[in-house]
Amino acid sequence: MALSGIQIYKMLPQTNCKECGFPTCLAFAMKLAAKQVELSLCPTVSEEAKAQLSEAAAPPVRPITLKSNGYEVLSGNEVVMFRHEKKFFSPTGLFLRVYDNQPVEPVRQAVQAVADYTVDYVGIDLSWDGIAVQANGGDFAAAVTAVRDVTHLPLILIAPPGTLKTALPNLDDGKLMLAFADADNWQAMAELAKTHQAALAVQAGTLDEMVALTEKIKAAGVDDIVITPAQRGLHGTLLANSTARRMALKQTFRSLGYPILNVAGDAITPQMETILAAQAIGKYGGFVILDHFAPETAYPLLVLRQNIYTDPQKPIQVQPGLYEINNPGPDDPVLVTTNFSITYFSVANEVESAGLPAWLLVTESEGMSVLTAWAAGKFDAERIAKDVKRFEVGNKVNRKRLVLPGHTAVLSGEVEEELPGWEIKVGPREAVDVPKFMKQVLV
Ligand code: SF4
Repeated sequence: MALSGIQIYKMLPQTNCKECGFPTCLAFAMKLAAKQVELSLCPTVSEEAKAQLSEAAAPPVRPITLKSNGYEVLSGNEVVMFRHEKKFFSPTGLFLRVYDNQPVEPVRQAVQAVADYTVDYVGIDLSWDGIAVQANGGDFAAAVTAVRDVTHLPLILIAPPGTLKTALPNLDDGKLMLAFADADNWQAMAELAKTHQAALAVQAGTLDEMVALTEKIKAAGVDDIVITPAQRGLHGTLLANSTARRMALKQTFRSLGYPILNVAGDAITPQMETILAAQAIGKYGGFVILDHFAPETAYPLLVLRQNIYTDPQKPIQVQPGLYEINNPGPDDPVLVTTNFSITYFSVANEVESAGLPAWLLVTESEGMSVLTAWAAGKFDAERIAKDVKRFEVGNKVNRKRLVLPGHTAVLSGEVEEELPGWEIKVGPREAVDVPKFMKQVLV
């Protein structure tokens, strides 16, 4: 049963020492009750209180990490229904599924393609997370070995208990997931999960059946449970995922407080598979299994995931500094922008792909885009001048030309006053127009 803020407060030291980052113990207790902070932030809480509060402090969605030879994919540990309330913590793990009755060579190629795939998105490397191997009348152990020969990404093994037994002894390289425990086989699957310290995916047609199963499996000694709604359509999946997450977070209902696995690969077309995967990424899917991998669908899913799992209160930033594009020399211009990643990469990519040499001064603007930073007083003449001096831009160029973003033309006079000896130009409003501006105006 969840404790109220007042109940938790009574168990805290009540010294208001502020070491947890909150002004009072009561404020901290309220945040703890809302599952927005960890109890470990209070260094002076007693062991007795810790034990009593452990239930209240335990994450409402159990964190589960699949591991394999240095690769990891964490799911669960979420505390909010909507990312704007705080943030989502554990990006959805994307798994490609292969079958044990497929010819070995195409399986190897597909697995290799996933293992090799890394794409740069605003300075962040994005990739898929693992491989699922499903029994389908072939040689399951051989299929698992073939996958392992190619990659050590984390695995989800989908097979009846008897078949899993043939493959598991060959795998000792981390924590994997076994699937699916259901009403008929849960005892044997739970035994296997315990023996091999694996996570166990439980599948049921209704949430009532799911609750009955997770409770029995937990009582049998398996803690790392993953819930898999048997629904495979858009509506059924959305309803099951949302209800399970809501029950876990709002009612602290431990029997559904586990990461969710969705099997988008069971969709009737590859297009629907991608849509289902996108829905799962947006709506509480902790792991998603797909049957197809192609860069044209892999990339948008990864970007969607990145956007949803980015802290909405902390924009993705790049390090402020003076960046070189296409080996600039002392006569090349200095472009100025903010340290919001997307702004930086928009400008840098346009200039770089046009083959034009330039210096790009990225100012400290707390990760805001140009207009937002200007409106918030984080991108003004004083800050620009300060960063010109801090990064010794004047020592890099003979011809002192500084190009401001077009949206901040109003700053040009003030920047001129702050930086005597510099020629201040006002560039275009959009990054896409920067190369044309450089060719026509900066001659
Ligand atoms: S650190 Fe602990 S004792 Fe200090 S204010 Fe926070 S909750 Fe209270």
